Amino acid sequence: MNRLQSVRGMHDVLPDEAQLRRRIEQVWMEVAHGFGYEEIRFPLVESTELFRRSIGEATDIVAKEMYTFEDRNEDSLSLRPEGTAGCVRAAIQHGLIPNRQQRLWYLGSFFRHERPQKGRLRQFDQFGVETFGMCGPDIDAEILLLGWQGWQRLGLSPRLVLNTLGNPDERLIWRKQLVEYFSQFESQLEEDDRRRLKTNPLRLLDSKSKSIQDLLEEAPQLENLLGEESRTHFDGLRETLDAHGIDYAIDPRLVRGLDYYDFTVFEWVEESLGAQSALGGGGRYDRLVEQLGGRATPAAGFALGLERIRECLEATATTAVDVYLVALGEEATARMCALGMQLREQMPDLRIRTNMEAGSMKAQLRRADKSGARAVLIMGEEELSQKSVVLKFLRGPEEQQTVLLDNIKSALAEHFAPTG
Ligand code: AMP
Repeated sequence: MNRLQSVRGMHDVLPDEAQLRRRIEQVWMEVAHGFGYEEIRFPLVESTELFRRSIGEATDIVAKEMYTFEDRNEDSLSLRPEGTAGCVRAAIQHGLIPNRQQRLWYLGSFFRHERPQKGRLRQFDQFGVETFGMCGPDIDAEILLLGWQGWQRLGLSPRLVLNTLGNPDERLIWRKQLVEYFSQFESQLEEDDRRRLKTNPLRLLDSKSKSIQDLLEEAPQLENLLGEESRTHFDGLRETLDAHGIDYAIDPRLVRGLDYYDFTVFEWVEESLGAQSALGGGGRYDRLVEQLGGRATPAAGFALGLERIRECLEATATTAVDVYLVALGEEATARMCALGMQLREQMPDLRIRTNMEAGSMKAQLRRADKSGARAVLIMGEEELSQKSVVLKFLRGPEEQQTVLLDNIKSALAEHFAPTG
């Protein structure tokens, strides 16, 4: 008899992996708890109508990816493809929203009938937060800070990409302009993009096709249409992030795949993951509560994919050291050895390896490379006399620099965040 297999795109989590998964879940639960967020759980199955009305008929998720079926009562039901819709439905149904601020988190499985590939499953787990009743940019900033703390604790540093989608009126004008602009080139577009142009033109912005990418260079920009309210909101968010020293990049092409966003949208991206590089994302959805039958309530949230986070952690869980110490000559070697001891004490999170058995600069750098170190500190005669070292990065775009011994700790701290 044939042995039965799990469904394509739906994976078992075996004991080895389960341990790492539990750690990831725990970090996010603890961080959410620390920010005063409360847990909510809602069903895996909802009426199909809920997702149509919230995520949007024309989105890929609703148009192509939902597991939809009729139950024995002939009601159309769907496995939940994301968490926001169910969370909002539950919050309205149980009166969690009116006249109150709510901060919620959830963790669970979601289902999308996508083509399975690396980073793309048909059943996957998400951790998410949703907040209600707060309209200022400070709550957008808060959820980003919550995310930042989670990444820190996991020892990851995905790139934060931000954009604003303005308000619905601004977006409507932009949408019209985009349709007008792309319609001129309709014959050059691929079939999928022609469909998007008709049904969901904003999605053209994250089309992978080369012709769209080229055309986008000259396409109308939403930025030129933003009014006072949208600008002030976005500036407010950026100021808070700046004040906390959180790095971000602004990408005017970030639109996200769901219809319900207004103003802020964002994603955390880890390029090393390849094609499916978004670890998670979110934004504001100020119209959704009303759209689903509740009283108009501002809201913001995000969701993270736990399988992709696990993949990142596996990739970074190497035996690599952080810093490799290279010295030329006896005196410099002794001085470097002492510097190593001092840094290990001052920066206990760093893994610092001292070169042994001397050798030429070339030989030492070869060993440094093999160690997997991200950075080397080099001391030759000149540095010795100047009481400095050269800080050189082996794997990133950072420039080599000469740093005085007194300043080496802060120079390293800039590049190696503590993992907590
Ligand atoms: P989204 O709701 O599409 O923005 O998804 C949020 C996050 O969930 C993504 O950034 C991914 O990390 C994860 N995710 C979404 N879809 C899938 C999928 N099919 N397989 C694995 N992870 C996914």
